[in-house]
Amino acid sequence: MVERRKTREVKIGNVKIGGNNPVLVQSMCNTKTSEVNATLKQIQGLEDAGCEIMRLAVPDLDSAKCFGDIKKQVSLPLVADVHYDYKIALECLKQGADKIRVNPGNIPKEKLKLIVEAAKDYGTPIRIGVNTGSLPNDVVKKFGHGTKAVVEAALGTLKFFESLDFYDTVVSLKSSDVLQNIEANELFSRVSDYPLHLGVTEAGTARSGVIKSSIGVGCLLMKGIGDTIRISLTADPVEEVLAGHTLLRTLGLREGAVLVSCPTCGRSKIDVMKIANEIEKRIMRIEKPLKVGVMGCFVNADEAKMADIGVAGSDDCGIIFRNGKVLRKVDKANLVEELMKEVEG
Ligand code: SF4
Repeated sequence: MVERRKTREVKIGNVKIGGNNPVLVQSMCNTKTSEVNATLKQIQGLEDAGCEIMRLAVPDLDSAKCFGDIKKQVSLPLVADVHYDYKIALECLKQGADKIRVNPGNIPKEKLKLIVEAAKDYGTPIRIGVNTGSLPNDVVKKFGHGTKAVVEAALGTLKFFESLDFYDTVVSLKSSDVLQNIEANELFSRVSDYPLHLGVTEAGTARSGVIKSSIGVGCLLMKGIGDTIRISLTADPVEEVLAGHTLLRTLGLREGAVLVSCPTCGRSKIDVMKIANEIEKRIMRIEKPLKVGVMGCFVNADEAKMADIGVAGSDDCGIIFRNGKVLRKVDKANLVEELMKEVEG
């Protein structure tokens, strides 16, 4: 059982993070925010997959206005991701952003001050998103580009926010170097109780990104560090959400159904890969603890018994089982639907 680090509670729209709240799964749209309908469609798909906080890139003032149009039509907390131009952040606040993400490496302090003052008026939290690729110049001069620089950039910005009497802050310290990512977040969490958003930046494709994030984010979660996570992938963002929930469930940080499926072999009687992928997507919305198995055959009964509910392939049909005991035979074409009936029943 992971003992979580005690952090300050921060409210983002209709959800709370930090404190005793569960670790939440975040993702980011890869549509253009100015394309409102396409973005709304993607948000809906991500919400259906289990996304709990959504971030949108806001590269210009037109996009900031579209952010407002989108905000009016979604219930998920919506975070505006702003770089360089403080006026965009001010417009996003006006448009009802639930949180603003700023990078202290590319917005000067005098402009950050204007964002902080406006955020205070609107009661909107800010995420200080520090990234090794874009550290503030004064920090680089003093500390270089290593772990200490990342942590100092976050702590220095937090101190600046506090000098403006602003405490409604979330922090992220991201690096594409997995070990540096772990080290920076560990170091930060020893000296600060602000909530942390975790992620490995530029982690790569669905294959390498999931591996890097499982290590980079998973190691920190195991130590009780982290209040929200994003599994950044060069892939459909739905994959980020599914991977995020799988990681949290694997570590016992969130309750929910998990998939166990066999690797298949020459004995397999059903299309395990297709069925397992479909079942995995659907069970992400099941929040009761449950192991759902998809097995190519019943030869190895012990494998099947590892699942609470499952299906195993047979010569002319599929066999639905519960706790290792056969419930019924079903037509191979209906395996997903029949298995989901048992899961949801
Ligand atoms: S369950 Fe059957 S098909 Fe799957 S790996 Fe084991 S023996 Fe092979």
